[in-house]
Amino acid sequence: MTDPLESADTEAQRQRYILDDTGFDEVPKRFRKFYRKWRGAGDSLAPNEVVCPVCKVVIRSTRELRPGDRIYCMPCMSRLIVVRGDGGRLEATVAY
Ligand SMILES: [Zn+2]
Repeated sequence: MTDPLESADTEAQRQRYILDDTGFDEVPKRFRKFYRKWRGAGDSLAPNEVVCPVCKVVIRSTRELRPGDRIYCMPCMSRLIVVRGDGGRLEATVAY
């Protein structure tokens, strides 16, 4: 696995992001850049980030996320789907 974003439509160009190590230490070192801790009320999500509804970790992709994307949360091993939440923000729900 090279990115939490497992599948995405390819027809539309997506903005790409350079990720740096966030110091997130609950996954092996080479995956640390793909996750970070949610810092609470003052925090905000970038277009390539979504919060895992299970473990509340922020999942980060090298690509902009869109509704319908399937992503994998390594810290809690959940498979998730990106959805458009109330208020227009991107959220993730557990995929069964
Ligand atoms: Zn999780």
